[in-house]
Amino acid sequence: MIHPKLERACAYYCGELRNTHKKQRRYLSHDGKAKPFWDLPKCAVVCCGLQNKIYKDHSKPVRRNTYDKVPSLKSELLKYVPPGGKIGDITILPKCGNQVGRCAEPHAAKLCMIDDPHTTIHDLRFSVARDITTGEPMNPCAICVAVFPTIK
Ligand SMILES: [Zn+2]
Repeated sequence: MIHPKLERACAYYCGELRNTHKKQRRYLSHDGKAKPFWDLPKCAVVCCGLQNKIYKDHSKPVRRNTYDKVPSLKSELLKYVPPGGKIGDITILPKCGNQVGRCAEPHAAKLCMIDDPHTTIHDLRFSVARDITTGEPMNPCAICVAVFPTIK
């Protein structure tokens, strides 16, 4: 189900990220030439929980304790790491290859569930995730589909 308010908020957020990251263009030396690259995160999403407040975040590196403040979300994520694994490990789900917890979706969910502890994983509504650089919609990965019942 598409929620126009969430979709608009996500598109706007991608623009904000592109603008704020513009000044952080950096150069990598490659074959003697300075090649510019943009230090943009890959993907952004927004969500809301039981209250209609919107939470936005993007994909970013994680540590094993990144989700300690939201144990119910953390335990869901940990179902998809290798046995004895931790947040940040490559998932065991086939044809995915993503690090568990690194996506924009669990980061936005975390913000929401910390701010409103009554919101559970089942209450979360997400926008379509977008590639920040292009603004194009991105398909959710296997981890996000498995963890969040409202993501198809
Ligand atoms: Zn994902």
